[in-house]
Amino acid sequence: MKTISVLGSTGSIGMQTLEVCREHNINVRCAAALKNYRQLAEQAREFHMKRVCIFDEKYYGELKALLYDTDTEILCGMEGLCALAADGDIGLLVNSVVGMVGLLPTLTAIENNCDVALANKETLVSGGQLCIPEAQKRGVKIYPIDSEHSAIFQCLNGEKREQVRGIILTASGGPFFGRTKRELENVTVEQALAHPNWSMGNKITVDSATLMNKGLEFIEAKWLFGLEPEQIEIVVHRQSVVHSAVEFNDGAVIAQLGVPDMKIPIQYALLYPERLHCDTKRLSLTDYGTLTFEKPDYDTFDCLSACISAIKAGGDRPCIANGANEAAVGLFLDRRISFLKIGELVKKAAETLPTFDVSTYEGVRRADSAAREFVYNSVS
Ligand code: MG
Repeated sequence: MKTISVLGSTGSIGMQTLEVCREHNINVRCAAALKNYRQLAEQAREFHMKRVCIFDEKYYGELKALLYDTDTEILCGMEGLCALAADGDIGLLVNSVVGMVGLLPTLTAIENNCDVALANKETLVSGGQLCIPEAQKRGVKIYPIDSEHSAIFQCLNGEKREQVRGIILTASGGPFFGRTKRELENVTVEQALAHPNWSMGNKITVDSATLMNKGLEFIEAKWLFGLEPEQIEIVVHRQSVVHSAVEFNDGAVIAQLGVPDMKIPIQYALLYPERLHCDTKRLSLTDYGTLTFEKPDYDTFDCLSACISAIKAGGDRPCIANGANEAAVGLFLDRRISFLKIGELVKKAAETLPTFDVSTYEGVRRADSAAREFVYNSVS
């Protein structure tokens, strides 16, 4: 039986991870949340956790009070997250925190030879150059939880990586597919948060609306599967049934299909290589009837083109694009900048900031901070 830890256990992916754990009796040893200390305390009791961490230190006292009569150890902050990632009792770290903040815990798990199930795409976008070589050197496995990357991972089962010609990364297109820039000028926060197919946290839902999410996934795919940018094709597929596909040298294309439900990729990452019952709707192709595939609009969605340019340029540029986006999405959610401004800022940051050395974690942090500062300075 596996023993896991879940970082981001009160978020959308984290809660679905715990559902899978309940269903399959997976032992959850540790968990961490950003600030939802009440729910974290309930989870700690339910799973008899060894340690929990509240990232926002201001809730440490409240969490401690709620768990006063248990043996659960209470930690906080980045130090706490990393202590969970380094815990020798766990066999798999599920990292589903949002943003660059997930990078250091991922690196810590890898350095402690602990496999990682990764839902935190910013980890590989900012620090793929740190995580992937280290994981390869140590034989640490990284299981993707992102539905597209899980699809590719599943299509590659039993295949030779060197015989892959390329991948087809599908995109739902988000709520604004088919709109022009002019039509997107007055998009509200509420409109951006209404995703047609997937129910997710706020940051990733905005990323899906700007197509930044697909840009981040493009970069994530490059790192996870050792691809060149030219080997990745993005296709808009509105129904989110084909979760992605792999093309091989002989022209055969293998795709993975399913209803849009994150429980399937989460369970696959937790139980790999087993395929056990999953409590989700079954796919009926005849209910869908038609599946459509279209080219993305790179001119309207600046974030997407900025990410592709960034990964082609390499080095620190993906980290800059990601940092700028995290700051800009925060400002948009606070209603301080417009929807289109997010893309403008990401593009401008990636095009104009000086080069940083991102061969160390400290270097990645410097590049990330510079990108955020650039965004804050551009709007104040
Ligand atoms: Mg995805």
